Amino acid sequence: MIVAIDKNSGFCFGVENAVKKAEEMLLQSGALFCLGDIVHNEVEVERLDKLGLTTIDHDRYFTLHDETVLIRAHGEPPSTYEYAEKNNIQLIDATCPIVLKLQQRIRKDYLSIIPEPMQVVIYGKPGHAEVNGLVGQTAGDAIVVEHPAELEKIDFSHPIALYAQTTKDLDGFQILEKEIKKRANGKLVEVNDTICRQVSNRIPGIRDFAGKHELVLFVSGKKSSNGKLLFETCQETNSNSKFIASLGEIDQAWFKGVNSVGICGATSTPKKLLEDVAHHVEGLVC
Ligand code: SF4
Repeated sequence: MIVAIDKNSGFCFGVENAVKKAEEMLLQSGALFCLGDIVHNEVEVERLDKLGLTTIDHDRYFTLHDETVLIRAHGEPPSTYEYAEKNNIQLIDATCPIVLKLQQRIRKDYLSIIPEPMQVVIYGKPGHAEVNGLVGQTAGDAIVVEHPAELEKIDFSHPIALYAQTTKDLDGFQILEKEIKKRANGKLVEVNDTICRQVSNRIPGIRDFAGKHELVLFVSGKKSSNGKLLFETCQETNSNSKFIASLGEIDQAWFKGVNSVGICGATSTPKKLLEDVAHHVEGLVC
């Protein structure tokens, strides 16, 4: 039985940086708040929780004073920073540099008045943490669209600046772009493909990897957007692909008659978890 781990899976640099910052702070102080799950992976959140990282939601955050809080790679809207300033909260800002740049670009477009105000449209998942941070750059005015059927939210008589949540898929973005340009009928549409290549560049590799194995175990947190996208890619190539969040979900029956197992995951899946899954599988079948 061959059990192989995809060498391109594991944390992207944005998540790796956030986890590293959390670990460094926890070594110094032994306790730290994190605004939202540091990463969309339950196993990693639990590991850091044991080291002293307490995950809080926004309701709790807006009651804090004189504390230290980590901002994860997804970033935050300006209101989070304003609250920190007024309430003596020290922020450990682990916003991914790619997301930070995207926030700045959206803010600039939103404030631009030449030739007339831009209507900011974001291809993204409504309510997703990164999207909330992006919408916050426009005082809540940006229009979030996930499917072409939602395009009626846009006023096509005004110029449009189109952006994408970093973890969305390129195909979906291009479909929206085409449809928006068609409806804008010659009006200015500024297209900003801001999809992070840390995710989209993994698609051909993961497709190739999934095709080489009889069974694929895709390891990811259930809330991970890129996990959903990459798992769909595995499934398209290899229908015998299973989504698991932890070792406990592995079913011995999956391995009957199987000679090769490939293990891969999302940009929010720690390499260590992939290795644990590989050892567990080896223990079951070898
Ligand atoms: S997926 Fe890209 S944008 Fe998102 S945290 Fe990772 S490196 Fe940053």
